[in-house]
Amino acid sequence: MVINPKIRGFICTTAHPLGCAQYIQEQIDYVRQKGAIKNGPKRVLVIGASTGYGLSSRVVSAFGCGSATMGVFFEREAENGRTATAGWYNSVAFEQKAKEANLYAKSFNGDAFSDEMKQRVVEAVKRDWRTVDCVIYSVASPRRQHPKTGMLAKSVLKPIGRSYSNKSIDLNTSQLEMVSLPPATDEEIAQTISVMGGEDWEFWVHCLRENNLLSKGFQTVAYSYMGPELTRPIYRQGTIGRAKDHLEATAKKLDEQLKALGGHAFISVNKALVTQSSSAIPFIPLYFVLLKKIMKEKGVEESCIEQIYRLFAARLYNGSSVPLDKNGFIRMDDWEMLPDVQLEVGKSWETLNESNLPERANLPGFREDFLKLFGFGFKDVDYNSDVAVDLKLPSSL
Ligand code: NAD
Repeated sequence: MVINPKIRGFICTTAHPLGCAQYIQEQIDYVRQKGAIKNGPKRVLVIGASTGYGLSSRVVSAFGCGSATMGVFFEREAENGRTATAGWYNSVAFEQKAKEANLYAKSFNGDAFSDEMKQRVVEAVKRDWRTVDCVIYSVASPRRQHPKTGMLAKSVLKPIGRSYSNKSIDLNTSQLEMVSLPPATDEEIAQTISVMGGEDWEFWVHCLRENNLLSKGFQTVAYSYMGPELTRPIYRQGTIGRAKDHLEATAKKLDEQLKALGGHAFISVNKALVTQSSSAIPFIPLYFVLLKKIMKEKGVEESCIEQIYRLFAARLYNGSSVPLDKNGFIRMDDWEMLPDVQLEVGKSWETLNESNLPERANLPGFREDFLKLFGFGFKDVDYNSDVAVDLKLPSSL
């Protein structure tokens, strides 16, 4: 089948298997060129491992630390002439390349929030590893069915207390628009916390611990975001911010509980990046495009793989203690939050209009980054060729 991108709003409904494989290869090449991480973990479980920050965490674990990896994700295989999702092709390519490098890799496609998925992983760890050294929690989901109550919660991206209006970008037309969002109800806040807060992370760690599957010195990390004043009403002070507060409080609780094992639970506050989930947050893509241009000009822009390599090499497994800020968080957004970067982004945002948008926002660059998430736009891939779409995970064969 010849595959072209089909974009609907902030999502591309097709994905290219060869492009996704190229995307993985570029991440592996980056990690190899940076060099091995000496003190890294040897058995890593990544939850939310198929795209974005979780995928890069799996690549750095395997190709930077030489770890065996298990990855959990929720993706769709190809069916009835439809391509699979990008995360599926990423995972197939990741497993193939891990196999070539003699690295253990096993993937689990299904709902990480369910007890059944946790049980499947527990059985695999018991059988193949005995214990886990590190769990990376990187799930971003629009909904969660609670494993105990069966209740379905949906996450919403809304301000709290009052409505919020600001500039945003329509990704279909590349035009500026004013967007207004009404305040969230208490029920919407609670549901967003259920989906994107820390409860499921805690369930995973407890489940592994109850089965005696945590190594001595076990570490677990979940990803959060802070962001500047500019995005505060919709992010940190909005529904998603409440969920992140809950995730961060969960880290403190887990950290306390892991002391007996000499272990730790960390929050890594990562930088804003174009991923499938983040493109869906109102106002945020416009902030990204302004931010990226300024960070690039200052020589401090990083991609997912660069962020995560630095997280592992310079923070988590640097051979000494993990550097934390005054709230106990790892800060990978240190360069995004540099005062001169934020000052310029703020000024650029304030004076942004249709006529200066092209020069300030590099929209073609944003589109390129976005399409690459789905395997499009890689120069070594022939997009006119017929390709097989029905690929299987090597670990399932
Ligand atoms: P992403 O959309 O690229 O990845 C989400 C992952 O979660 C995918 O692997 C997907 O398959 C998996 N997933 C979703 N629902 C699932 C389910 N029910 N069961 C199993 N797996 C499921 O997202 P991302 O942007 O990499 O975000 C990952 C984490 O990083 C989130 O907590 C996010 O808030 C945080 N973060 C993101 C940014 C950013 O700008 N992208 C910045 C800082 C922190």
